[in-house]
Amino acid sequence: MRSFPFLVLILLVKSVFGQAVPSSAPDVATGSKDKQEDGVARIVGYAMTSGGASSFLETLTDRIGGRITGSPECKAAADLILQHLKDAGFENAQFEEYTINPGWQHGPATGEVISPVRRGLYLASYGWAPGTQGPIEVPVADIAGTGDGHSPLPGKVRGAAVLADLGSNGLSTNYVATRHLLARQLANAGAAAMFIVSDKPDRMLYTSAFLIYPRGPLPIISIAKEDAAFLRRLLAHGPVTIRLNVQNSFSAGPVPERNVVADLVGKDPSEMVLLTAHFDSWDAAQGANDDGAEVATVLEAARILKMLKIQPRHTIRFVFFSGEEQSDLGSRAYVAQHRQELDKIRAVFNTDAGVQVPLGFKLYGRTDLEAATRKLISPLAPLGADRVFTDADFDSDEESFMVVGVPTYSLAVEPEDYYVRHHTIVDTFERIDPRMLRLHTAVLATVAHSFANADERPGRRLSPPEVKDLLRRTGLESLYELDYPDAKPY
Ligand SMILES: [Zn+2]
Repeated sequence: MRSFPFLVLILLVKSVFGQAVPSSAPDVATGSKDKQEDGVARIVGYAMTSGGASSFLETLTDRIGGRITGSPECKAAADLILQHLKDAGFENAQFEEYTINPGWQHGPATGEVISPVRRGLYLASYGWAPGTQGPIEVPVADIAGTGDGHSPLPGKVRGAAVLADLGSNGLSTNYVATRHLLARQLANAGAAAMFIVSDKPDRMLYTSAFLIYPRGPLPIISIAKEDAAFLRRLLAHGPVTIRLNVQNSFSAGPVPERNVVADLVGKDPSEMVLLTAHFDSWDAAQGANDDGAEVATVLEAARILKMLKIQPRHTIRFVFFSGEEQSDLGSRAYVAQHRQELDKIRAVFNTDAGVQVPLGFKLYGRTDLEAATRKLISPLAPLGADRVFTDADFDSDEESFMVVGVPTYSLAVEPEDYYVRHHTIVDTFERIDPRMLRLHTAVLATVAHSFANADERPGRRLSPPEVKDLLRRTGLESLYELDYPDAKPY
């Protein structure tokens, strides 16, 4: 259901929690079950009637725009988040610095066919891929869908811009692993550039840096499906030459980055629940749905809990990461910097799948958490967000916590057209439904409140052998090896 009329909400809040939404915001303390239910009713009521997330998101997307990790825009986004937290009364809000190495500047990328005809091409660079060191004129070779990163490559790839089909531009394990392996193989074979055929409609292009960071082995380009088809029609009649100029550059050394952290301190701060989202994005558009909208909802959840003067039993920590799009760099830095207090974390709730209709929570293979989780998210039943999903992936900052055994969740949503818009020119503000921003705010604030006030943890932290077993059971072991080539976090 996309529309959520206010009247329906009032009735729903009344029927579930036995309380009307109050017209003012008196203190809400932990304690009796009634008081807790009253707290939830107030949280949901305020979330569903506030426009805070929408107005923050408009500022983030229209005033700052795309936010590549390490860029001035990413810095401005961190400043904006910190200011909003301070304005909401979080005196403990602060930056936590780390470095990325290297930084990357996204320069213009142009390409045109110069023989047998002259024609411009729709293309864009992947992140953390090198440029071409000035304009180059090279032949086009086509390996279609035959490149898997292991099978031998034809000799024609040497010196060529090589067209490759990798299947869906989604975030599947196979897709990113194949992209990574094939790029290395093409670079070793002397290819001039890798042209990945975009599977998006309407000449839309894609970008990513997952398993390309810290440095792609050759220029890696997204080319529109229509333009690839054009090149293939020309190739059917004879050789094709293009001029390519990709002007990306890397920093000479490390570049500073920051996460933003604020605590709603609990009565007993020896345990905590984390609510997290990432504020870095790609720059083809505004990074609205990935992941600006969820930054806005986590921020609004924080503001509402603070405004309602809620003091949970245990601390609720709000963490806004940068560096997600490269390789969960912000959350990895967080885990390293907070290694001593990982045992204190009851649960991490990350949200990075877009603000479509919320369904419930993904458990990342932790079936041992399932029974307790079902109980703790039962207050979300009237919002339609009380389902649990046990599958796992490495799509976002959850990964950094999953691999150190911390109970890790993400908000599961209807996919709708998320993967069409993902990392493209149409990830823009006006495509975000403000009603969904309110609903997500309600769900996130409620789940954090529920887990922070629960008598028991939903489950325990896994030991390193148990994490290894979890990765094997969820089919993520090989991707884990690629994603953590050096020191393992466990
Ligand atoms: Zn994201």
